[in-house]
Amino acid sequence: MAKNRAIVLGAGIQGVSVALGLQQRGFAVVLVDKASDCLLRASFRNEGKIHMGFVYANDPSFKTSTLMLRASLSFSRLLDEWTGREIDWRALSSHPFMYVIARTSMVAPDRLLQSYEKLQHEYRTVLKQEGGSYLGQRPASIWEPLSADHLKAWINEKFSVCGVQTVETSLELEGFRRIMRAALARSGAIEPCFGCSVESVTRTAHGFRVEGSRADGMTWDRHADIVVNCLWDGRLKLDEHMGIRPQRKWVYRLKYRLLGTLPRELEGMPSLTVVLGPYGDVVRYPHAKTYISWYPACMRGWTDGVSVPQEWERHCAGWVEDTEASRIAQDALAGFEQVVTGIAQADIDVVDAGVIFSWGKTDIDDPGSELHERFHVGVHCYDGYFSIDTGKFTCAPLFAKQFLDCVC
Ligand SMILES: Cc1cc2nc3c(=O)[nH]c(=O)nc-3n(C[C@H](O)[C@H](O)[C@H](O)COP(=O)(O)OP(=O)(O)OC[C@H]3O[C@@H](n4cnc5c(N)ncnc54)[C@H](O)[C@@H]3O)c2cc1C
Repeated sequence: MAKNRAIVLGAGIQGVSVALGLQQRGFAVVLVDKASDCLLRASFRNEGKIHMGFVYANDPSFKTSTLMLRASLSFSRLLDEWTGREIDWRALSSHPFMYVIARTSMVAPDRLLQSYEKLQHEYRTVLKQEGGSYLGQRPASIWEPLSADHLKAWINEKFSVCGVQTVETSLELEGFRRIMRAALARSGAIEPCFGCSVESVTRTAHGFRVEGSRADGMTWDRHADIVVNCLWDGRLKLDEHMGIRPQRKWVYRLKYRLLGTLPRELEGMPSLTVVLGPYGDVVRYPHAKTYISWYPACMRGWTDGVSVPQEWERHCAGWVEDTEASRIAQDALAGFEQVVTGIAQADIDVVDAGVIFSWGKTDIDDPGSELHERFHVGVHCYDGYFSIDTGKFTCAPLFAKQFLDCVC
C-alpha cells in the first residue's frame, strides 16, 4: 500500500520533531527548509533552557508555568523515542540555574517564592499523573532558597539580596543539533529538501501542492496528503496565504546572544537567570562556551508585520559584522556588570541572533504585557493543513506529540 505523504515546512526543533514522529508512524516525509541544514535558526541561536516555568511567575493564571512544566517533563522521553536512542542528556546539560531576584523585580520576592512553591507542587502532580522526567532526572525537589553568603559570592548586593537554586538547565545546542541531524540521516523515510524557500501552499483534489524557490533561483514543487507549517518566523505569512489570519496582536522580536569565555575570577560561577523583568541570563557548561544575554542590549528588533524584515536574515544566519558585534557585546556586558562584577571582562567570540514570535503588543517591562503569558500556543488544524506555533524550544516535542495524536 502507498504510504501517506507529508510535507513538513521548517527544520527547526519543531519541524524535526514532527518529521521524526511522522516517519515512525509510517509516513513518507519531505522536510523543507531555506537554510542549508536542519536546526540552524532560532532552534540553534537560543539559550537552550528547558523551562520548568520559573520565569513565568507574572502570569497570574499559572497556565504558562504549567505548560512549561508538562513540556519539560516530556521533552527527553519523546526525543529518545523519536531518535531511537537513549540520548545522554546529562552530557548536553548546563550547570543548573540560580535565580537571582532583582531589587527592582516587577514581581515582589514573596510572590515569586509563592509561585515557585506552587510549581514544586505542580511538578509532583504532573510526574504522578503523566510520568516523565526532567532530562532523565526525577529530583524530589526542584528548588531551594539560596543562602545570602552563596548569593554574595557572585552577585552585587546593590542589585539583589535574595535568590533560589533550581534544578533547571539548558542544553548545549551544537551537541543537540548533531544528535537531531544524525537521527534524520538514519531515518530512511525523511527526504531533506534544504536550501529551498517555501512560497505557497495550494489545496488540490488529492491533497496539497507546495511551491517555492531554491537559492539558485530555480523553482520547486511537491505534492502531499498533509502539510505541517513549522516555519516559526515564516509561519504567519504562509498561513495568510491559506486564508488564515490571527485575530490577536503579535510581535516578532530580534534577540542577540553572546558566546564566550568568562574572566578567570568568574570561572566557578553558576548559570543564572535574573528575575523578573528586562534583565538577563548566563549559561555555564562544563565543556562549552558560556552564553550571555542582557535584554536591554540584546533585544534590538521589533515588528508587528506579517513577516520579519529582510535585514534580520543575515544576523539570524550567524553573520553579524565585527563592529556591530563588538557594540552589542560591549553593551550587553556593561549591562550585566551591575549584577556580576567583572563580567565586562568576558572574552566574546560569537554574536548572532534569533527571532522570537509571541502574542502581545507591549514589551516585557510592562507588567501587563501578554509576553508574560505563553500558553496560547500549539497545534492548529485546518483539514489536512496544520500550523504549529512552537512558543518555546521547550514545547516543541510536546506539540509534535499532540499533532501526531491528531493525525495518526
Ligand atoms: C535569543 C533567544 C533565546 C531563546 N531562549 C529560549 C530558551 O532558553 N528556551 C526556550 O524554550 N525557548 C527559547 N527561545 C525560543 C526558541 O528559540 C523558539 O521557540 C524555537 O527555537 C522555535 O523553534 P522552531 O522550530 O519553531 O523555529 P526555527 O528553529 O526558527 O525553525 C523554523 C525553520 O523554518 C525555516 N523557514 C522559515 N521561513 C521559511 C520559508 N519561507 N521557507 C523555508 N524555510 C523557512 C527557517 O530557516 C528555520 O530553520 C529563544 C529564542 C531566542 C531568539
